[in-house]
Amino acid sequence: MIQIDHQRCGYCGSCISVCPVEALSLSDAYLTVAERCTSCGRCVAACPVTALSLPEAQAGPATPLRHHYDVVVVGAGPAGSTAARYAAQAGLSVLLVDRRQEIGAPVQCAEGVAYEQLRPFVEPDPRWISATIRKASISCAGMPGLSASSEASGAQGCVLERRVFDRALAELAVDAGARCVVKTQATGLLLEGGAVRGVRLEGLGGRQEVAARIVVAADGVGSLLGRWAGLPTRLPPRDLMTCAQYLMAGIDIDPECTYYYLDETIAPGGYAWIFPKGQGRANVGLGVQSDLAEMPPVEYLNRFVERYRFLAQGSPVCLIVGGVPVSRPLERPIADGLMVVGDAARQVDPLTGGGIANGMTAGRLAAEVAVEAVEARDTSAAFLARYGQRWSQSLGRKMERNYAFRQRFPVGQRASERFMQIFAMAVSSSK
Ligand SMILES: Cc1cc2nc3c(=O)[nH]c(=O)nc-3n(C[C@H](O)[C@H](O)[C@H](O)COP(=O)(O)OP(=O)(O)OC[C@H]3O[C@@H](n4cnc5c(N)ncnc54)[C@H](O)[C@@H]3O)c2cc1C
Repeated sequence: MIQIDHQRCGYCGSCISVCPVEALSLSDAYLTVAERCTSCGRCVAACPVTALSLPEAQAGPATPLRHHYDVVVVGAGPAGSTAARYAAQAGLSVLLVDRRQEIGAPVQCAEGVAYEQLRPFVEPDPRWISATIRKASISCAGMPGLSASSEASGAQGCVLERRVFDRALAELAVDAGARCVVKTQATGLLLEGGAVRGVRLEGLGGRQEVAARIVVAADGVGSLLGRWAGLPTRLPPRDLMTCAQYLMAGIDIDPECTYYYLDETIAPGGYAWIFPKGQGRANVGLGVQSDLAEMPPVEYLNRFVERYRFLAQGSPVCLIVGGVPVSRPLERPIADGLMVVGDAARQVDPLTGGGIANGMTAGRLAAEVAVEAVEARDTSAAFLARYGQRWSQSLGRKMERNYAFRQRFPVGQRASERFMQIFAMAVSSSK
């Protein structure tokens, strides 16, 4: 049977079009081959990215240390691209790697962010802004009278088009001098006496080992890089918000208002949201605490949509699923030769689940420390510890405090006026 390299496959369907026995099939982004495959090889020739091979073909050896960079950043989300950009801007040689075929896609986010959090990094650009937000409405459905709304005079925040936004951040990194590769996965760390000295990569460029003075792990909620370096990144289920969201069309809502629903029957341990995206479209989603969920989040989401007429009259045009770490940030997001940033370092706001701007802040701090470490020729954990300290001094303390609030108001007590006030404060500083 034909062998499929799923990391390389671009799900284009060319192979299916030439297969004489209908042995290949594609379900969204996953290609499978049936036993009736005759290994005729037509699909191998049709594949634009050499994702298919004949059974006798052997995987070649890894290309040994062809490249050397000051910094390799794994993950081109907001945290990684920002780290790559500032490190390259300061003159370091930087490689930015992402396993995705298209940076920013598929979107796993409700896309809300405050302008004041973005401006230190980028000027808002209409190319990646779907809606400007001036109001927030927070309600405990089922508890009439317990609702809060805020209206600011100016534009508070926006709902992004992350597909475009994430790519724009990666482009800024490239403009600053970083090299970026896509569809390339980090499959391991190069370790020397326990210190990180580079990464193993697999993807379009084959298998490679790339040396680096510093590796920045920006590989998101499912991060493995930190774990490979021995950091305790595993989340207890109570610290994972598992989410489902529809991008819905045809719904009639205030296009400048974000809506939050704190209600254990709608989203146990979490909340539901409606973030407008303009022209009758909105991100309608929810996150549930994974140890409290009695059914999959997508079921809670379907119930939420059915519960409100103005939602039920619209239609989903895209389903988004994802996880948000709502734990304390990693206490030591460093190891010898490694810094961990963004969701990978659990630097998300544990109350709201917002992590875009936090990740960008951490990315910039990690880049600054990388520059100092390369100059000092010292990439030990003891030197890189200043990254963790600066993170704590900037946003880390606030995240610790918000985590403590989450603990202080266990489920059941969250539908209280006090919790709503705290939640409203967290929302208004992040949207
Ligand atoms: C449903 C949902 C709604 C959300 N809503 C909001 C919101 O409204 N506002 C907000 O601020 N935050 C929100 N968040 C959180 C926000 O999306 C994240 O905090 C943010 O994307 C984190 O950025 P990051 O760069 O750390 O990681 P990511 O954006 O997750 O990027 C990680 C990147 O690493 C790549 N990668 C992973 N492993 C490897 C590997 N081994 N090799 C190569 N590449 C790899 C991935 O392909 C990915 O591109 C939401 C999250 C979810 C799931």
